[in-house]
Amino acid sequence: MSRNVAIVGRPNVGKSRLFNRLAKRRVTIVHDQPGITRDVISFDVADGGYTLLDTGGLGLVGGESTAELTAASEQQVDFAIAAADLILFVVDGIEGLTALDTRIASMLRRSKKTVQVVINKADFGEEKIDFADIYRLGLGEPVQVSAEHGRGEADLRETIISHIGPPVPEDEDTADKTARDPLCVCFIGRPNVGKSSLSNRLLKSDRLIVSATAGTTRDAVELPFQFKARNNKLIDFTLIDTAGIKANTKLASPVEYFSRLRALDSIQKADVIYMVVDALEGITQQDKAIAGEAVKESKPIIVVVNKWDLVLEAFKDDDISTQMYKNERDYREKYEKALFERLFFTPGSPVIFVSAVSAFEIDRMLNSAVKINRLLDMKIPTARLNALIVKLTERMPPPAIGGRRFKIYYATQTGNRPFRFRIFCNREEKLPENYRRYLERGIVNEFGLEGCPMLFRLIGKE
Ligand code: GDP
Repeated sequence: MSRNVAIVGRPNVGKSRLFNRLAKRRVTIVHDQPGITRDVISFDVADGGYTLLDTGGLGLVGGESTAELTAASEQQVDFAIAAADLILFVVDGIEGLTALDTRIASMLRRSKKTVQVVINKADFGEEKIDFADIYRLGLGEPVQVSAEHGRGEADLRETIISHIGPPVPEDEDTADKTARDPLCVCFIGRPNVGKSSLSNRLLKSDRLIVSATAGTTRDAVELPFQFKARNNKLIDFTLIDTAGIKANTKLASPVEYFSRLRALDSIQKADVIYMVVDALEGITQQDKAIAGEAVKESKPIIVVVNKWDLVLEAFKDDDISTQMYKNERDYREKYEKALFERLFFTPGSPVIFVSAVSAFEIDRMLNSAVKINRLLDMKIPTARLNALIVKLTERMPPPAIGGRRFKIYYATQTGNRPFRFRIFCNREEKLPENYRRYLERGIVNEFGLEGCPMLFRLIGKE
C-alpha cells in the first residue's frame, strides 16, 4: 500500500526546496497562490515507491505572527504524525535550532513515528549548526543536505529507503497478479428468483438441488467451476452456496432469510455478489432488505435480472402485458430506472438481464464479475487522487458544519477490497452523507471503478 514520507519543519528551513529536489521538480511550489488551496502537496516518487508530502502550506492563514506560525507548524506536525510512515524533520543548518524546532522535536519524539532529521542549507561546510544540539533532540543521526545545490541528495534518498524499505517490485503490484484467484461469487435474492437455477447453469449440473430437511442449516460450501472470459483466458471461479438448503418455503422476513440461508456467510466469503431479482415481479420490500445487507458488507454488487426469457417471449408473442412498453429495450430501460429508484447501490453497479433457463447473457454476467474483481485491486496514485480531491472540492466545497468550514487537506488510499481512503481534514465530524456520495461518485468516475464500494475514514483535528 502507499507509503507516505512527510516533510515537516518550521517556516523557511527549505521544505519546498527539498520537496522539489526529491520530486525532481524544478518549479517552485507556491503555497499561497490565489485560488489554489493546496494545504498539503504530494508527489509519487516512482523510483522510491513512496509518496512525498510537503505539509508546509497547512494551517497558514495569511498572518505571520509567531503565534500563528507556531500553530501552523504544529498542525503540520500533527498531520505528518497521522499520515506518514516516515517524517523528514528539516532544520536550518545556517541559523541553527530555535525554540520552535525543539518544540517540534518533542512532538515527534512523543509520536514514536520514524523520524529522520535533515540538516538543510549545508552548502559550503560553513554551517553554524551545533551537532551536540542536534543529538540532544533525541531523534538520532542527522543527514546533511543542500536542497539548493543538491549536496547530500543521494545520501538522503538512500536513508529514506533504509527507513521504509525498497519499493515493491512493479510486477508484484499489478492488478492481474493480485486479483483473487479463484474469484468467489454468490447469489443472493428472494426465494424463487432463480438462484438455484443460475447456480446449476454455472456448474452445468443439477447437483445443487438437494432436497434438504426443512429447517436444517449448513455452512456455505464452495463449488469450483471454470469460465472462458472475454480475452479467452480461463478463469477459476468459486460459487459460494448454501448447499442442502432449498428455499422451498416462503420465509417470513429477511432476517429469517439471512439466518436460515446463511446468506451473510456467503456474502462475507464472496469477492463479488450477484443480487438476483425477478424480471416480471419487480422490486419488493424484501429485495430492498437483502440489498441493504449486501451493501452493508461493502462488497461489489452486480444486479442480475433473471427470467429475461419470459420478457423476450412476451414481446415476441405480442402479449397483452407488453402494451405498456414499446419494446424489450424500453422495458429494460424502465426496469433499470425503477431498480435504482428503489435500491441503493454503489454508483455504477452493473445491471445484467439474464435467463437461467435459456442461458441468455450468462457470459456477460460472469465477465462483469471478472472485470470488477480486477478493478478491486487498483492502487490509486496518491498524487492523482489528491489532484482529483482538489478539483472536486473546488467544484463543490464541503458543506459547513455548525457554521464552520469543513476543509479537506489530503486523501490517501489505505486499502483494497473494499477501497479504503483516509481523508485528512480540519474537523472530526462525519462527512455528511451526500458529500460522501459526491466524493465516491467522483472517484468512481475518474478511475473507472464502477460498482466498487468505498469506505472513507476521516481524520480531523481543530
Ligand atoms: P431460488 O429460490 O432463487 O433458488 O429459485 P429457483 O432457482 O428454485 O427458481 C424458482 C423458479 O423459477 C423455478 O420454477 C425455476 O424453474 C424458475 N426459473 C428460474 N430461472 C428462470 C429463468 O431464467 N427463466 C424462467 N422462465 N424461469 C426460471
